[in-house]
Amino acid sequence: MRTYQKIGFVGLGVMGIGMANNLLKAGYELVVYDINPARVELLSDPSKATVVAKNSEIFEQTDTVILMLPNSPHVESAVFGEGGLLESKIPENAFIIDMSSISPVVTEKIAEKLSAKGVKFLDAPVSGGQSGAAEGTLTIMVGGSDELFEDAAPIFQVLGKKIIHCGKNGAGQVVKVVNQLMSAVNLISMSEGFILGTKAGVDPKIMMDVISGGSGRCWAVENRMPEILKGNFQPGFTIDLHKKDLGLAMEMATSMNLPLTVTAMVNDIFKTAQIEGKGKLDNGGIITVYEDLLGVKVRNP
Ligand code: NAD
Repeated sequence: MRTYQKIGFVGLGVMGIGMANNLLKAGYELVVYDINPARVELLSDPSKATVVAKNSEIFEQTDTVILMLPNSPHVESAVFGEGGLLESKIPENAFIIDMSSISPVVTEKIAEKLSAKGVKFLDAPVSGGQSGAAEGTLTIMVGGSDELFEDAAPIFQVLGKKIIHCGKNGAGQVVKVVNQLMSAVNLISMSEGFILGTKAGVDPKIMMDVISGGSGRCWAVENRMPEILKGNFQPGFTIDLHKKDLGLAMEMATSMNLPLTVTAMVNDIFKTAQIEGKGKLDNGGIITVYEDLLGVKVRNP
């Protein structure tokens, strides 16, 4: 079994900062990089983290790197681009674990390119949101070999609670896309239902209490409706990032000549929200598209 002392961590955003802090808490040293230097200041124990000025300095200090970046182009650039991880001498046993949610097709290509350079690679996107990242209770969906899945176990056990090997490289990303498609559809079904009921004069808090125990219950109602009732649209998980995931689902469906009728409509509603300047809101803020249509707010602070 592979052991770790120092781990590289790239991308200290909403998710990455909680994950990096959990690794520090578990006793690992980190080598960290984020293009936004302000993010580094949120590390819980800076004395155990070496901050580097570019990704290419990370493999000089460790052979294992976790990526937690927005999308495929960011991952490709962090690995293969100018100042990327592979610009330095590649250490023996180099291992990259990409925990970002990106395209499964791009993931397979990255895995092939890395394998040709002798670099081991897992895709390991996560679900569980900012609180799951901060509490170390993420669900981790892993794509790659059995051997690497076992090698990464000590790291995954710090970051997550439910760790599932989904198949070969790319399979973790496929499962993540499926999850994201379904959670976006649920957000829209919740938005339509709650705007209808609120306009009809029922208190949305009462609807939430009922539906949390009814067959319409879902993560959107349980996790996002309490924040919507307070009018809190601070991310969380942004509409921009969720739209990115819907785009990945649409790309996959297009390449398979598969109609995804509802997902296509939901994708357009998320696009509408972006055009309206709502991309940086939490994904619960998608309900404001409907609120603006009717001039009704789903609130009970
Ligand atoms: P974020 O935008 O908050 O964080 C991304 C971080 O990466 C930022 O701090 C940014 O400065 C940094 N960055 C961008 N390009 C970089 C580069 N080339 N090198 C180094 N740093 C770079 O995003 P997030 O919410 O933390 O999400 C990260 C990934 O996890 C995304 O793929 C997202 O879809 C996924 N995800 C997010 C959530 C959530 O609830 N936020 C939940 C599950 C999965």
